[in-house]
Amino acid sequence: MNFHTPKKSLGQNFLTSIPARMKIIEAGDIVPTDTILEIGPGKGFLTKGLLASGARIVALEKDRDLLPLLSETFSTEIATQQLELIKGDVLEFDPSVYFSTHYPLHATRYKLIANIPYYITGAILSRYLSSVTQPSCMVVLVQKEVAERVCARNNKESLLSLSVKVYGEPKLYYKVSKGSFFPIPTVDSAVLQIKNISKNNFANQYHEAMFFKLIHAGFAHKRKFALSNIKHVFPAVDIRLLFEKESLSEKVRAEDVTLNAWLHISLSLSTQ
Ligand code: SAM
Repeated sequence: MNFHTPKKSLGQNFLTSIPARMKIIEAGDIVPTDTILEIGPGKGFLTKGLLASGARIVALEKDRDLLPLLSETFSTEIATQQLELIKGDVLEFDPSVYFSTHYPLHATRYKLIANIPYYITGAILSRYLSSVTQPSCMVVLVQKEVAERVCARNNKESLLSLSVKVYGEPKLYYKVSKGSFFPIPTVDSAVLQIKNISKNNFANQYHEAMFFKLIHAGFAHKRKFALSNIKHVFPAVDIRLLFEKESLSEKVRAEDVTLNAWLHISLSLSTQ
């Protein structure tokens, strides 16, 4: 099967740029002992580059129509077990179960490298960053605007930037023009690299849960001050005092509160 009509519903914009592929691989800092999870191999353009690095690839594709083509293209790598193709949905795939059963030695240290379907960017970032089996790093092609927001280039934080920075170090690694894909999408893209992924910012899982409850409360109403947004969600706590301890004004907006301040306040809340 060589002919395949791209499916908009599955975010199928296939990468065609060799320089962009090289940058994705460079950002992944891949060594032959790595295990890489690739979400949505599509027709295998990125997979081919990843395989050339010598690493072991687990590629998860939802579109069953693409599997015969992938199996044929990579029959040698599948036979030598350098590549494992899985028909599945990335939002149902459980890396904890999979890597502990199939690759016990790499259980917690796989890398997620992919040209992801943009319609589920947020869900993929949050699912894999917060997983108990986190990747050590992520390199993903995303909409340029999303990469810019994650990196908070204007020093204004958002729910998205904080939700990523609390787990790792994001960097807009390389810009990719819309002409680098087929079919050509409406927006430009960027390679987003997230290094040193861990849960080290959290004292425990209650702290992690409280951090997200707190930032969601803080950003709930854009035009309101962070303090007045938060007060209603924690009526039994003197939030004003916690803000004071962080030298935060009562009139600060959520976007101007630093990651560290959110972490300190949520730690206090999680121990009350
Ligand atoms: N990696 C290929 C490339 O760079 O040309 C294809 C990238 S394309 C943007 C996204 C791929 O993800 C498609 O192959 C699509 O079928 C697949 N996909 C979409 N939704 C998915 C899901 N929920 N789980 C796994 N794969 C999915």
